[in-house]
Amino acid sequence: MGRCKSCQKEAPTISGKIGFCAACLRRYGDEIAPEIAALHARTRKAFGLPEKAPQSEGGIPCRLCHHFCRLKEGEFGYCGVWQNQKGHLLGPNPQGAFVSWYLDPLPTNCVADFVCPGGTGEGYPRFAHLPGPERGYANLAVFYEACNFNCLYCQNWHFKLRSPSSPPVPTTKMFADLKEHVSCICYFGGDPAPQSPHALSFSRKALRLREGKILRICWETNGAENTPIIREMMRLSLNSGGCLKVDLKAFSEPIHQSLCGVSNAMTLKNFKVLVQMALKRPNPPALVASTLLVPGYVDEEEIEKIASFIASLSRDIPWSLLAFYPTFYLDDLPTTSRRHTEMALSIAKSYGLTRINLGNRHLLSEAY
Ligand code: SF4
Ligand code: SF4
Repeated sequence: MGRCKSCQKEAPTISGKIGFCAACLRRYGDEIAPEIAALHARTRKAFGLPEKAPQSEGGIPCRLCHHFCRLKEGEFGYCGVWQNQKGHLLGPNPQGAFVSWYLDPLPTNCVADFVCPGGTGEGYPRFAHLPGPERGYANLAVFYEACNFNCLYCQNWHFKLRSPSSPPVPTTKMFADLKEHVSCICYFGGDPAPQSPHALSFSRKALRLREGKILRICWETNGAENTPIIREMMRLSLNSGGCLKVDLKAFSEPIHQSLCGVSNAMTLKNFKVLVQMALKRPNPPALVASTLLVPGYVDEEEIEKIASFIASLSRDIPWSLLAFYPTFYLDDLPTTSRRHTEMALSIAKSYGLTRINLGNRHLLSEAY
């Protein structure tokens, strides 16, 4: 049970860690912003990550994501992977990255499995081996250990325990693990954004190695890459039968800032660009949106705004609504309730969205 420091309302869906309810965050966003920024700075400092994106005068620019960091000698970027070392920006390279990987048998618990070739056979025979779920095949799941967001409910927060001085992991063996039965590669994390040059380079080489055979390139991302980069990611997915899964975490800026510590402006801008690209290949869908139903915060107003945003671009973009599990700093909220999901599904339908999915159903609770 948390209490909003502004309106004094008490509810199980108010996080004591955030300290404010969604309505007050939206209403008094500017006044509350310094407190929210301090909260995120504290949670980053605990892991030795920069408290905010460095913008050092005369520093080396990094243009991979929405932060556009400028790093002076010795400084790390917001993501904690790129560092100015003696005037050079050092971090991942085509031979190595801050990464781990494994083979995941298909069909897998993938955000897009309700519409993708691996989960449904959509796109068979050009992009899928089978006309249904691709049993007997596998996804090469590539986990990038860094992120350009600071989500308080990160399910994979353990990557933050990596020491900043650890060297990149050689990725030659990733090619060896690209076995014949691997039919898709999915880059996730963390987020692929800060290490996108490595992912793009690996994808191009992998596609060359498997020329004429099925190998889909897919991404799970917060969508805040610099636009030319996310366009290139989409091009690889479009050509290979894969997809980009973009997390639309919240629509209102103060809610997004509170949950993720950063703005959603680049994500929304990129999403519009991606929809235009994705319309060139509607089946299997090249773009899939997802939203975690965070109790109390990703509420009716946020769902309505996200639904309206997607529908204004295309009603056929698949949207996966995911149930929330309390973890990391947001461990004082309940799991998503049935009432919350029913409300979200009904809003999505009211906007005429044609491909809606509910993920993580096993987490649904009867509470609140
Ligand atoms: S990838 Fe993004 S967060 Fe990391 S250094 Fe570059 S601009 Fe900054
Ligand atoms: S990685 Fe791509 S093709 Fe494979 S299961 Fe996930 S969305 Fe489907």
